[in-house]
Amino acid sequence: MKRYLALDIGGTKIACGRFTEDGILEEKIVSPTKAERGYRKVLEDIILNLLKLKTEDTIALGIGTAGPLDRIKGEIYSPPNLPGWDGVPLKRDLYESLKIPIFMDNDANAACLGEYLFGAGKGVKNMVYITVSTGIGGGIIVNGGLLHGVRDSAGEVGHQTILPDGPLCNCGNRGCLEALSSGTAIAKRAMEEIKHNKDTILKRWAEREELTAKHVREAMLMGDKVAKEIWDSAMEYLGIGVGNIITIVSPEKVVIGGSVGLSGEDVIEKIKEVIKKRVFLVPTDKVEIVPARLREDVGLYGAFAVALTEMRNKEGG
Ligand SMILES: [Zn+2]
Repeated sequence: MKRYLALDIGGTKIACGRFTEDGILEEKIVSPTKAERGYRKVLEDIILNLLKLKTEDTIALGIGTAGPLDRIKGEIYSPPNLPGWDGVPLKRDLYESLKIPIFMDNDANAACLGEYLFGAGKGVKNMVYITVSTGIGGGIIVNGGLLHGVRDSAGEVGHQTILPDGPLCNCGNRGCLEALSSGTAIAKRAMEEIKHNKDTILKRWAEREELTAKHVREAMLMGDKVAKEIWDSAMEYLGIGVGNIITIVSPEKVVIGGSVGLSGEDVIEKIKEVIKKRVFLVPTDKVEIVPARLREDVGLYGAFAVALTEMRNKEGG
């Protein structure tokens, strides 16, 4: 049996895992990133954990990490959540210790591939993955493979303009989907609303702790009108964004993940409702919109999927 190592690098935690070729996660080690220690220290931890998991029959390592990155060179260029990692040669450094082929991709693309091969996206040719949590990311599968685009920048579904003069986005643009429908955007909007609007339970909650999208959802479910307005408008924009992607890609499946995306069945119902109103050229009854399935291990499955795909491509010639 051939085995694979998988490495999922996030701003708060790093997960290392070992998979069998047919997709069983045999063992994993999760540790806090503590990126402030600097690249070298974090790298030492990663190598230690990967060596613990590595077996005789391990043939490759897959990595999913925050970008920007060059997946061929295997270098990372200052992701916002990994300060100081500017041009670090991660692939080369890991190869020195592991001596097996290493493949990497950005975390959203990796997660997309993971859901495609092992989760909710199985069995179709074209799929879009959208994760809605603190940010909005995603990936696009076309004809059974990831769409990478110019300098690996394809699939940034969260940075399509939805509202021309909308709130400023981290990317520099105004009115991106991420600036309107992400968990961060929902919380920000709630903070704005309570300044002018006293008639909401959110105002009281905000005195106790920092508001999050979860608070807004909770208040909405309790019947709070202000919270409902905030939540509904975020979901309406999300529906518009997903509708735009469907119009362009016309995938058989759209997989929705992330803490906001998976916060309730009503999220997908709302997306479907908006699409019905706005998408006309794609036969939307043929487009399935489904929740992601891999949950907390999606990053590991994604990293594994990246390596598995590359190794199969190599073998297949
Ligand atoms: Zn943006």
